[in-house]
Amino acid sequence: PLPVLAVVGRPNVGKSTLVNRIIGRREAVVEDTPGVTRDRVYYEATWNGRRFTVVDTGGWERDVVGIDLSVAVQAEYAIESADAVMFVVDAIVGPTDSDEAVVRVLRKAGKPVVLAANKVDNMAQEADAAALWSLGLGQPWPVSAVHGRGSGDLLDAALAIL
Ligand code: GDP
Ligand code: MG
Repeated sequence: PLPVLAVVGRPNVGKSTLVNRIIGRREAVVEDTPGVTRDRVYYEATWNGRRFTVVDTGGWERDVVGIDLSVAVQAEYAIESADAVMFVVDAIVGPTDSDEAVVRVLRKAGKPVVLAANKVDNMAQEADAAALWSLGLGQPWPVSAVHGRGSGDLLDAALAIL
């Protein structure tokens, strides 16, 4: 079986857009409405000649439990079956309570984590990415899932821990 990289984070940070970028096609469901991707969706990806499975997550039931808890629970499920985790944060918005909830899950799980500071569409926004050092998860990798900016370095970092 291929090594599994789970892409986790609260709704609307750009997980599905990033997964599309990683798999090189437009298939993971991207929506302006948070929480559109259903449950976990598995794709096969290749980077620098290495094959791996990438898991897109979503489908939070926000009406059933609070948003922070449901994000954390979804992340927990996805992380369980993963060899490494790509934690996606919206660098422009900065860390929210939902993000912090995922951070606690990540700490508990103890799996290797690469931190994607998404929506850094231009160089001027890179300071926003640097602010994510405060999460205590190591180096934030600035990336623009939409434009592809920084995605190569992010993938190198992800494969290094996978
Ligand atoms: P998910 O809920 O985490 O899967 O987020 P989506 O991939 O569905 O994206 C949510 C919204 O953020 C969509 O409107 C995307 O176009 C937008 N988005 C995703 N990545 C970027 C990015 O790098 N830059 C900008 N400006 N918008 C992005
Ligand atoms: Mg999604």
